[in-house]
Amino acid sequence: MQIGFIGLGNMGGPMAANLAAAGHHVSGFDTAAEAPDGVTSTTSAAEAVAGADVVITMLPNGAILRAVADQILPAMRAGAILVDCSTVEVEAARQVAGQAAVAGLGWLDAPVSGGVGGAAAGTLTFMVGGDDAAFETVTPLFDIMGQKAVLCGPAGNGQAAKICNNMILGVTMIATCEAFAMADKLGLARQAMFDVVSTSSGYSWTMNAYCPAPGIGPSSPADTGYRPGFAAELMLKDLGLAQAAAQGADADTPMGAAALELYRRFVEEEDGLGQDFSAMLPRFEGRGRST
Ligand code: NAD
Repeated sequence: MQIGFIGLGNMGGPMAANLAAAGHHVSGFDTAAEAPDGVTSTTSAAEAVAGADVVITMLPNGAILRAVADQILPAMRAGAILVDCSTVEVEAARQVAGQAAVAGLGWLDAPVSGGVGGAAAGTLTFMVGGDDAAFETVTPLFDIMGQKAVLCGPAGNGQAAKICNNMILGVTMIATCEAFAMADKLGLARQAMFDVVSTSSGYSWTMNAYCPAPGIGPSSPADTGYRPGFAAELMLKDLGLAQAAAQGADADTPMGAAALELYRRFVEEEDGLGQDFSAMLPRFEGRGRST
């Protein structure tokens, strides 16, 4: 396929490289990052998408997606499909999907989980919103960039799935960290805590697969000084998107709101910026109830 790829950063760069390595013709554009090996560099977003069957965007946020969409929708060939893999507001995805439809183009929102490691290894999971026909056309590309793609319903539903998942993840990480810190104060060894909880009803992905306590459970960012992994500021971004969606849909999400406030303080007022999101554990460790 002829593919246009806009946004060649930490995630988009390796994703585009994997598509090129699999034999597709990839034209890339980024305002700052260099095109990776195998990807043809272009001087504008419009140039990158001209003649493409599929255009993939991997951008920082919804405002930038909207701005890029205004540049590329008029430049895409009729019948081409725009696939946005960025994490953005459900509302932004649905709005750009509407613009694409008016322009006679297909649309999929396809945010990912799996992080930079998954992007490089081609093992991402795609959560997809859009119609069956577009999903079928793009599936061979998802298969190159990832290990799984789930069609979650119409436009915007991929973003909805992503922020629901990450709201659970943020809340669960905080619960796991505060419980470890409380166990410390109760004199309960962390290994004993892990051995019990990971096989009891408190088990979770954050405890069993990504344990925030160094030296406990499978290898995780806690074992390398909380180098991300999944950075606390990216969790903060996703919790903000979750609250925006909750407000728009009149959903009552008190735990999501509390998680947002804790990660906001951690990133903006404490030392969370640049640390893995599991570094909430050392944050809780030194605290008492009044700090
Ligand atoms: P990044 O900042 O490394 O990459 C974004 C790229 O977009 C940058 O290279 C930037 O120069 C480029 N860009 C910005 N404005 C542009 C424009 N107008 N035209 C063209 N290029 C432009 O970010 P990333 O880590 O690759 O994340 C991309 C998206 O993936 C985000 O929405 C993020 O939330 C999501 N995501 C990231 C991770 C992760 O672990 N990094 C995991 C899952 C999802």
